[in-house]
Amino acid sequence: MTQHPQDAASLHARHQSVLPSWLSLYYERPLELTHGEGRHVWDAEGNRYLDFFGGILTTMTAHALPEVTKAVSEQAGRIIHTSTLYLSRPMVDLAERIVALSGIPDARVFFTTSGTEANDAALLLATAHRRSNQVLAMRNSYHGRSFSTVGITGNQSWSPTSLSPLQTLYVHGGVRTRGPYAELGDRAYIAACVADLEDMLQQTAGGIAALIAEPVQGVGGFTMPPDGLYAAFREVLARHGILWISDEVQTGWGRTGDHFWGWQAHADNGPPDLLTFAKGIGNGMAIGGVVARAEVMNSLTANSISTFGGSPVTMAAGLANLNYLLEHDLQGNARRVGGLLIERLRAVTAGLDLVREVRGRGLMIGVELVRPGTDERAPEAASLVLEAARERGLLIGKGGQGGASLRIAPPMTLTVAEAEEGATLLADALQAAQGMLAPS
Ligand code: PMP
Repeated sequence: MTQHPQDAASLHARHQSVLPSWLSLYYERPLELTHGEGRHVWDAEGNRYLDFFGGILTTMTAHALPEVTKAVSEQAGRIIHTSTLYLSRPMVDLAERIVALSGIPDARVFFTTSGTEANDAALLLATAHRRSNQVLAMRNSYHGRSFSTVGITGNQSWSPTSLSPLQTLYVHGGVRTRGPYAELGDRAYIAACVADLEDMLQQTAGGIAALIAEPVQGVGGFTMPPDGLYAAFREVLARHGILWISDEVQTGWGRTGDHFWGWQAHADNGPPDLLTFAKGIGNGMAIGGVVARAEVMNSLTANSISTFGGSPVTMAAGLANLNYLLEHDLQGNARRVGGLLIERLRAVTAGLDLVREVRGRGLMIGVELVRPGTDERAPEAASLVLEAARERGLLIGKGGQGGASLRIAPPMTLTVAEAEEGATLLADALQAAQGMLAPS
């Protein structure tokens, strides 16, 4: 049913009067999405959009994927009772699949309902195992919105308090688009970051529990650290007994194309000690989790329970979605169509002064914007491009340092035709935004 713009305005006003101010909304006239199909979504006014953001990667496969819808409704019709106090076949089934895919030996899975809670659980395990509340995190990182995870988020605009139950030390390596390391080649950059890490460990009294890192920083603007960075870190960490937590909330399940997990681009010397996941695996249903070696997972000695983590309906969605993803080789599709999209975006933005860089891996693509004729980040341009893209029927995201990067992460079933259509729409939106920003 098509609604009038006034209805959207009043929904926005109602939203603002009952929800927190810090739940920021995209767009001057925020969007209300009412339905989706494949790689498209529709708003309450009946407009159709090509979705290049997948609801921040929660729609991993496709909107309204029939296989997932069927699995959810069948399970909901059987039983939706949830609690870890009883055996659950869908939970064990999905855990077995994830254990086998994780690459972590003798692994165990704990299911949560979000990425925040997954990282919180990983921190609880790592600090309990190592009996230390000191943690290493990367500059420009994002790991969630809870009290523990804002404490390890190295991105001021998403970290509302300096108070934390953890003592956090920030490490170089996740992003190098600017600053003293920007000019270094990959090997020299890795060596500089390792030296920084070693130096930090020497200066720090007491043991450190873990390093937590995103293989590609998501909220941080789809940054591309050089391959092998975390393998080099891992050697140092292992010498100190420090655990490595790979936050795969955005990079998991083949989205980066070349690899099933983001850590695989970095470590040929073994998997991380812990891995966290969320977002796409439920194709919109609330699934998160942590995978860890049994020795680490079982370091909690008191009893615990999760009421909603691993609920049968979400597990059924996860299983159906995972089966679809593997049967249709969506990792291969992310590699092929993502590679093509990156090339296409580089070609169509080549003449635009607004675009500093198109970077990416598979279907995680960042476009960094600068004020035309300068090298200054241009967050105002990112907002203009988002609006212009929306007007042209394309949804994208933004983020990164200074909020000056566009983020592109379509559902992983994206077709070549859709990739080309999206690249053309985005080039047009960039052109329009550049026109608006041109120096007077
Ligand atoms: N880790 C990463 C890398 C993320 O990108 C996010 C969400 N943007 C989270 C953790 C938190 O996940 P959630 O929003 O499900 O709590």
